[in-house]
Amino acid sequence: MSRRRILVTSALPYANGSIHLGHLVEYIQTDIWVRFQRMQGHEIHYVGADDTHGTPVMLRAEGEGVTPEALIERVWHEHKRDFDAFLVGFDHYYTTNSPENRAYCEQIYGALQATGLIARRPVEQFFDPVRELFLPDRYIKGECPKCGAKDQYGDSCETCGATYSPTDLVNPYSTVSGAAPVRRESEHFFFRLSDPRCEAFLRAWTQQQGHLQPEAANKMLEWLGEPGEPKLADWDISRDAPYFGFPIPGTEGAKFFYVWLDAPVGYFASFARHVERRAAEGVSIELDHFLRPGHDTELIHFIGKDILYFHALFWPAMLEHAGYRTPSRVFAHGFLTVNGEKMSKSRGTFITAASYITQGLDPEWLRYYYAAKLNATMEDIDLNLADFCARVNSDLVGKYVNIASRCAGFIVKRFDGRIGTMAHGGAGAAPCPTLLDDMRAAQGSIAALYDAREFGKAMREVMALADRANQYVDHEKPWELARQPDQEARLHEVCSTALNLFRLLTLYLKPVLPRVARDVEAFLSIPPLVWADATSILAPGHVIEPYRHLLQRVDAKQTEALVAANRENLPGSGAAPGAPAAIARTGPDASVATKAVGKATATPATPSAATAPATKSAPAAAPPGQLTIDEFARVDLRIARIASAEQVEGADKLVRITLDLGGETRTVFAGIKSAYAPETLVGRLTVMVANLAPRKMKFGVSEGMILAASGEGPGIFLLSPDDGALPGMKVK
Ligand SMILES: [Zn+2]
Repeated sequence: MSRRRILVTSALPYANGSIHLGHLVEYIQTDIWVRFQRMQGHEIHYVGADDTHGTPVMLRAEGEGVTPEALIERVWHEHKRDFDAFLVGFDHYYTTNSPENRAYCEQIYGALQATGLIARRPVEQFFDPVRELFLPDRYIKGECPKCGAKDQYGDSCETCGATYSPTDLVNPYSTVSGAAPVRRESEHFFFRLSDPRCEAFLRAWTQQQGHLQPEAANKMLEWLGEPGEPKLADWDISRDAPYFGFPIPGTEGAKFFYVWLDAPVGYFASFARHVERRAAEGVSIELDHFLRPGHDTELIHFIGKDILYFHALFWPAMLEHAGYRTPSRVFAHGFLTVNGEKMSKSRGTFITAASYITQGLDPEWLRYYYAAKLNATMEDIDLNLADFCARVNSDLVGKYVNIASRCAGFIVKRFDGRIGTMAHGGAGAAPCPTLLDDMRAAQGSIAALYDAREFGKAMREVMALADRANQYVDHEKPWELARQPDQEARLHEVCSTALNLFRLLTLYLKPVLPRVARDVEAFLSIPPLVWADATSILAPGHVIEPYRHLLQRVDAKQTEALVAANRENLPGSGAAPGAPAAIARTGPDASVATKAVGKATATPATPSAATAPATKSAPAAAPPGQLTIDEFARVDLRIARIASAEQVEGADKLVRITLDLGGETRTVFAGIKSAYAPETLVGRLTVMVANLAPRKMKFGVSEGMILAASGEGPGIFLLSPDDGALPGMKVK
């Protein structure tokens, strides 16, 4: 077999949210494939990066009062931590906000411009006149033109299901400022996909054997339309300032590359950085052999089916016409459902990677479960939590680990850890006289299944072999042989055979269970297993270490706790009424305690309603430490817009804030100056206690307080409502 040289990528997660179990389908799938290829001895480089640019990151950073760079730095560390925890072994994990990426983007853009594939023309778009910002469609809401439902997004109505464009909305408003958006014209830059050169290239490329899965290739035909009646529109690759991204050369900072232009280029930038780092370690990788055409290398992208359009049309066309190599294969997978339904925050099935780890579940359980479910198609896969427990316990613990745990002890205690001869090809080893041979012979078919991303089939084949190994052990009953002094030789033979079978099963499972495999290699005292080791055995006389525990069983209580930890107490979801967590959930980190900030709380004139003890007249007093729903309801929490914010002369912690409650305004003094520059607060929405008794302070009267979170460490985090909330809305 010739040695393949492969550059592999997973899609870049956006730096605006946490990694969840849906994301992990892709990263685990890619990582298994990469580990398998590496065990085959191929040269393989697996790179990724955070996708950092665009309006959502810019606005979120502003909302948090930090720079976009600080936000993406923090999120990068969170993402990297989650990938490491799930044993996703990137060779390099980078950011798209890198000098390498900027250079590649400018270079590709320049090449496309030189070949006449960049066009400019005016585009009319919604513009937020308050924030002076062109609005992506997702930041516009309004009333459904069909049924009149309020607060609908610009593409479809959640109430009646009608679809339309943002311009059809009645009384549209910007979710950034609440202002009515206006139409404004601006010049945009386009990649001319409608050019006959692009069309001809894509017609050929998308249909060439192996580039795309058959169902994806068919989808591309639909998007390309009939020959002679091309349907491909030019692709808008620019955005107006203010924007967080790379400025387009020659526009004096007025135009930026659209985030979707620089995101896939980020694959190359991450790889270039990887090459540079390896060079510093004395390992030379031919960068151009992977990025330029004409070399015997492969470029393979793993993606979700939702971004096929970008990876199967825009990206290859861009590369082709800028003088780069095009992808060898684009592997698209389906979405994750949990218990047969879309992941849901209110049901607790929108499960973050971090919560899975902090709840104490083993990442290799999930790796195995996903492997058992995955195939080479774009079908969705379901994480059924009951099935998850059953399968992990039955397959991994009951079948696989069980073989070693039943046999290794005898080798160590009775034979000084020394492996004996094999019950190979007879010696009464029925019902599996040829099991070891069969198991070695399976390496070809299992390898073919891994290579074809038919992981589910591979796992079934491995588990069928594990079943046979268990039948062998059950039949020989080493625990009974151990009680018969004249069966010493037989006991040695049976346990040695079983451990050899276990070693082969470990080899076959190693791409899926890298940590377990590493522990097995340690206890068997062998070098890291590679695929070629399927033809060798633990030779007689080889000495192993004492068996160590390899894998726990999963308890259904753990998955229940996981779901409970991810369930958000949305209003009206039937969650515990009045639970304080309902207030904290909009904070950046729900695990951080919520407290009111403001000078007012330090010297309260009257206790707030929330902490007032239940009086005798209360209809149903709550137990100590709790409050009734009626008591909670006395706290008038409102969405407020920060209309102005300014420093207070002579106060080093306070900010004077004017809040707009949808017509009514209030002034409060908040002790948040250490965390927020006043000017960054203007325009954002937060939550206030609107019926707190006013109190006179040195600097004026405070007419309420705003809510924020803080924890043990530094930092104060103002609460924000989700998109769509308006000043004056009640929080309950
Ligand atoms: Zn409607």
